[in-house]
Amino acid sequence: MGIVWDDRFRDISFSHPMIRDVSVERIRRFKELISNEDGIMFIKPEMANFEDLLLVHDVTLIEKLREASSLPFVGFLDEGDTVHYPGMLEDILLVAGSTLTALKFSRYLARIYIPLGGFHHATRTSPMGFCPINDVAIALKTLQSKGERVALIDVDAHHPNGLEEMFYNEKLLKINVFAYDGEFFPRTGDVKRRGEGEGFGLNFNVGLPLGSSDDAFMEALRMLELVRHFKPTYIVVVAGVDGHMDDGLKSLNLTANSYNLLGQKVFALSRELEAKVISYGGGGYGPGSSISMYSFIKGLKGQRFLPEKGTEDREKREIVKKLVNLFLESSSCCLK
Ligand SMILES: [Zn+2]
Repeated sequence: MGIVWDDRFRDISFSHPMIRDVSVERIRRFKELISNEDGIMFIKPEMANFEDLLLVHDVTLIEKLREASSLPFVGFLDEGDTVHYPGMLEDILLVAGSTLTALKFSRYLARIYIPLGGFHHATRTSPMGFCPINDVAIALKTLQSKGERVALIDVDAHHPNGLEEMFYNEKLLKINVFAYDGEFFPRTGDVKRRGEGEGFGLNFNVGLPLGSSDDAFMEALRMLELVRHFKPTYIVVVAGVDGHMDDGLKSLNLTANSYNLLGQKVFALSRELEAKVISYGGGGYGPGSSISMYSFIKGLKGQRFLPEKGTEDREKREIVKKLVNLFLESSSCCLK
């Protein structure tokens, strides 16, 4: 298994200044945890160029980023989440390049992880939610252009609005697991949004009630059964760890155990289907985030690693169970 790593990752954050420290600390601590792990190959990313960004973004967004990067002060690219700072364009091209490097190395390695990645909120034209660009979209678009069959599993406290918008009509399986009450950021993720055109029946919004625990998350993971039926050649995973119970953005009540189970399931599916895995670290803004990333990596290596006392909330679990059952019963139309 490969991990895309550049020491510059230790200082990059596009988050709000108030959570910048905890955001970079997550990546630093993760690197410490992973340093002595067996069976990991570290891959140095290449820089992307502007053309690579144009694959999924409008030229107006790229111009905006270029301008903002040349300003001598820190400010916001949107209404107050995503920062700009002097020279940020270099960091953006490194993030995009990390995805392209992972795709290149996936010829040789079955499973690859990019700790600083998973910027799933940015749309074709706008930065959003700490995401100046959408690196996951670059992966999906590139794989599609090569004729690969792709399943996206996006697990994060927040619904991947940017990805849903860009790939809603595309023949690509999308399983989104996130915290949802209709008001929680980014407010998208309606259960009725099932895809259109080529993408009809392939978009699944598994919104978990706010505060859901490990047991509800396990129910949500039953959705991964659909990946088996879809038979992708690539599985792209956003494993955002901001659903951890200690997270500063308080949304879910998960432990690091949940991320290990996610990793194990993806490992098993990729082995069975002989599908390549490109995975991302996603969001995470609390003391439990680095261990959650590490747990996910353990799982992705096929190892059971449950470092915390699991959490339960039967009522919320029942809600998720019903939703997943409904999805599974109505999915057979469109997975061929
Ligand atoms: Zn998030």
